[in-house]
Amino acid sequence: MKSALLIDDDPIVRKVLSKALSTAGWAVHEAKDGEEGIQAALRHRPDAVICDLLMPRCNGFQVCRALREQADHLPGLKIIVTTHRGFATDRLNAFESGADHYLVKPILAEDILQLLTSKETAKASPSAPAGAPVPAAQLPAGNLLRFWGVRGSIPTPGPNTVFYGGNTTCVELRADGQLIILDSGSGIRLLGQRLVEEFKGRSLELTLLLTHTHWDHIQGFPFFAPAYVANNQVHIQGYEGYRKGLESTLAVQMESSYFPVGLRQLPSNITFSEQREMEFHVGPVRVRAIFANHPSVCVGYRLDTSTGSVAFLPDHESYARMRLHPRAGGPKGQATLDYCRAEDQKLVEFLRGVDMLILDAQYDEAEYQTHIGWGHSCYEDSVATALAAGAQHLFLFHHDPAHDDARVSRMVGHARELAGTHNSTMSIEAAREGLEVPLLKGQRA
Ligand SMILES: [Zn+2]
Ligand SMILES: [Zn+2]
Repeated sequence: MKSALLIDDDPIVRKVLSKALSTAGWAVHEAKDGEEGIQAALRHRPDAVICDLLMPRCNGFQVCRALREQADHLPGLKIIVTTHRGFATDRLNAFESGADHYLVKPILAEDILQLLTSKETAKASPSAPAGAPVPAAQLPAGNLLRFWGVRGSIPTPGPNTVFYGGNTTCVELRADGQLIILDSGSGIRLLGQRLVEEFKGRSLELTLLLTHTHWDHIQGFPFFAPAYVANNQVHIQGYEGYRKGLESTLAVQMESSYFPVGLRQLPSNITFSEQREMEFHVGPVRVRAIFANHPSVCVGYRLDTSTGSVAFLPDHESYARMRLHPRAGGPKGQATLDYCRAEDQKLVEFLRGVDMLILDAQYDEAEYQTHIGWGHSCYEDSVATALAAGAQHLFLFHHDPAHDDARVSRMVGHARELAGTHNSTMSIEAAREGLEVPLLKGQRA
């Protein structure tokens, strides 16, 4: 005789199903919560478990996982999860936890019996069906930069940040027919809305270049509307994360504990490329990368387009400033000085002659004294680097969450004075949300 175990905290459900299964010739055991259910399953070793999802003392996901861990003792066990909720994410999680079937209440005893006697399982396919092809959108001609998020660390909304903006890192570059997004902090949400409005009904292809996977550079991606549009192509590129690959790092922040939609449930076509070389192309745009002085695997990018170049280093700290600081650990001798200066010079060469330089300038020199080794620059170093590299335009970037608009404005003013003492014609601005800059070769401020 086949046996079934009913795990449900609702005695009426147990009573109805128990009667129907007994009538159909099944031996039936019952448990009133998940914990009791796991014990009963191990004791009776039933052929099937019908388990409610939300119960006291161990939920249905936990029951599924616990029983699948005991697969040696419970060979061929069929698990049907029942629930009063119809959320797609619950369904997917139940299957991932080990359920064979998933039924939303009210359920009929006949449906249970049919599933118990069928050999099929109904596990969901995580990939969305591909829709009919839609012609790809053509980007309007003209190369430009747009700033959608300029803040570092954490979004900082409020009346004191309305001018520069409170969203975290995201910059849009349109160049040579390519739509390139630099990092996906919270600013990417607004960019996504704009793209959906602009390309309504036509598929969109874009490349998201990630400098690194710290939260302020990826946290907006779950809210990026074009990722929810079938037929859109989203190419995500970057360098391998600190501990996990790019894809799994982005997927983790969309696990069901943190977000209701999983990365692989998004309807668009999302591809990941972990770069191994420090130079590659996005269409005709040449992209070069350099490792930044910042905790984790973090790069800066330089993108050369037909109408000018853009460099993007949102998170970087001067090697010499950091390593030679009296409060920093490690040797301070001539060899260290030479080494650090050489590393700083490598960055200058990487940036040599760049038109648009978007550079970490989170602190001023005084604040830096208490942020040594945090992986961020004081604007004094950013100005020095930009001047040494001969950049045309410098955008101070990755504004500190503690800096209000007045403070950022004062920092830009000081940065300009500093550049002025070097008789430089380089323009300096603090990046701000909504700022749009055309990329025109040889353009001056
Ligand atoms: Zn950052
Ligand atoms: Zn970072």
